[in-house]
Amino acid sequence: MSIQSNLVQIEEQIRIAAGGAGRDPAAIKLIAVTKYTGVDSINEAIRAGITDIAENRVQDGVAKFPLLEKPVTRHLIGTLQTNKVKTALSTFNLIHSVDRLELIEALAKEAAKLERQVKFLLQLNISGESTKHGFQPDALPGVLAKISSFDYLIPVGLMTIAPLVDKADWELEQGQGQVRPIFRRLKNIFDESKMDNPNWSYLSMGMSQDYQVAVEEGANMLRIGSAIFKN
Ligand SMILES: *Cc1c(COP(=O)(O)O)cnc(C)c1O
Repeated sequence: MSIQSNLVQIEEQIRIAAGGAGRDPAAIKLIAVTKYTGVDSINEAIRAGITDIAENRVQDGVAKFPLLEKPVTRHLIGTLQTNKVKTALSTFNLIHSVDRLELIEALAKEAAKLERQVKFLLQLNISGESTKHGFQPDALPGVLAKISSFDYLIPVGLMTIAPLVDKADWELEQGQGQVRPIFRRLKNIFDESKMDNPNWSYLSMGMSQDYQVAVEEGANMLRIGSAIFKN
């Protein structure tokens, strides 16, 4: 299978899931996660229509982005070390993985130095797995209050990673899936905190294993890697 035909299939799945949920598929951004992928394949995906790409590590973006054939929107989705904040801000358009107060403070400091507004997503750990990064959901109000005390920081939405599962939700009996409740909870939190966040726009959830469920539950940014770049 080529990258192009993988993309055609994924876009078809997104249309079906969006249609079933009464949503406009055009409002859902497909982000190609390129962490395991070389520049040639990324350029192939860009030729096939991809406009947004994501890397987990700052240094991978630094190495690959200058070699891309066309300008794309660049997302950072992995843990960001505070000593890489400056490089991250000059390399990426949107950071999805703001997951701790120390990082918020480092972003605020750099943004003030640059006198530049910085938009980002807050990563929440909805599944409660100890291996997952992100704020606990009940910490969110305090985190948002803290952010509003800084001049240049603009949180624009939420991100989460669902647990890795052996079986997709749709292979199990109704109500047995582990992924849908996580996405539904994030959507509820997103909606509840919308009132206090005029710039709230993005709900980043759904990967290769679960993006259809994420679409049904309201995601408007999907982060898909292996399903695009598999052979
Ligand atoms: C790797 C990764 C993805 C993409 O995962 P696939 O299963 O390859 O689609 C999405 N989000 C994050 C945070 C990742 O690290």
